[in-house]
Amino acid sequence: MKGICLLGSTGSIGLSTLDVIRLNKHAYSIVALTANKNIERLLEQCIEFKPTYAVVVDEDLAEIFRKKIKLSDARDTRVLSGMDALEFVAELPEVDIVVAAIVGAAGLLSTLAAAKSGKTLLLANKESLVISGDLLMSAVKENNATLLPLDSEHNALFQCMPDGYKTGQRAKGVRKLILTASGGPFLNVPLNELDNVTVEQACAHPNWSMGHKISVDSATMMNKGLEVIEASYLFDMPADLIHVLVHPQSIIHSMVDYLDGSVLAQLGNPDMKTPIAHALAWPERHDSGVSPLDFIVNNQLSFEEPSFDKFPCLRLAYEALNTRETAPAILNAANEVAVEAFLAKKLRFTDIPKLIEKVIKLSTITRADTIYSVLKADTEAREISKQMLETF
Ligand code: NAD
Ligand code: MG
Repeated sequence: MKGICLLGSTGSIGLSTLDVIRLNKHAYSIVALTANKNIERLLEQCIEFKPTYAVVVDEDLAEIFRKKIKLSDARDTRVLSGMDALEFVAELPEVDIVVAAIVGAAGLLSTLAAAKSGKTLLLANKESLVISGDLLMSAVKENNATLLPLDSEHNALFQCMPDGYKTGQRAKGVRKLILTASGGPFLNVPLNELDNVTVEQACAHPNWSMGHKISVDSATMMNKGLEVIEASYLFDMPADLIHVLVHPQSIIHSMVDYLDGSVLAQLGNPDMKTPIAHALAWPERHDSGVSPLDFIVNNQLSFEEPSFDKFPCLRLAYEALNTRETAPAILNAANEVAVEAFLAKKLRFTDIPKLIEKVIKLSTITRADTIYSVLKADTEAREISKQMLETF
């Protein structure tokens, strides 16, 4: 049995991971589950999976949770609180696999802790790679950790990459990576109608059901921008060899284009349980609960160029990747503040990229060679973003 630490168990990826584990109970034991605030859902999960530890990051809610758990069937589960507890459970010796499914920069330190303790790290928290790409990749290498991407595009690329890549060599014979993008809910909405779109419209993704932050990121296409950066660090590829291709049906999850003209693609129904099951079982395979792909039902696969004019976030992400150093961390921090403001109805949809661009211009880019420099860039960019918000 493999010991699992599931960081962010109450979110969309957390729930899908538990669905896959429920189908393959014999293979896994849950060591730790963690939540920020959703203690009702965490309690249900503890009663079902009886983890050794449960972390509630919010201290006050953790007190309430402790009382609830004592009265439940999961009374033996130890309850921890605070951000440090996330790192503690990610490092436990009885943990083999850490699933990093916290949203945003909040997942950075626990993701790094998992890498530093040599775990098999299943990465959904793309923001941590965007913020600290070089640091995280070196932590994985230096500590013999195994990094398996859960993001559907990167999981697809991982499955299509040459074997050499998996043993740490630079990908041989690869001409370019093709990241597919659904285009989000506004693909066919004219640019001049985007000013007044609502939170509900932005969160109504045509193919995927996800947390609010990534849903807004998909609507602005910042999600694809973050994924270009993620792919660059994961597969050691420069920005100009990573192409984005809009594919509204989300059946092809990404492709590797080889020098000899071969293109390898990974296909499937758009359901995160497939990449989650793939990474959990790797290098074996087991059931995910996802229905088989029906080619007759899905007989129209189409492709188009992304519009950088309509989705400036994509351009900003490429620029940050070309600058590297702390530029991606600044981009990410400004985006997190902007998305939160949009979700709170304090910023218009089309002002999200405008705010990010201003923050990048006003920020000082420094080397990203220590965790302190990266965290400093993140904090400063958040402060500038909050000041800039007042001007919109
Ligand atoms: P979500 O909002 O549904 O869940 C987020 C989880 O993180 C919750 O368990 C929450 O308790 C926890 N969390 C939030 N803030 C926290 C904080 N400050 N400290 C500690 N824990 C905190 O998000 P999601 O859609 O599951 O996405 C999680 C990550 O996976 C994101 O990085 C996202 O980009 C990535 N991802 C998600 C999908 C998807 O289909 N949902 C696909 C690919 C990648
Ligand atoms: Mg993705």
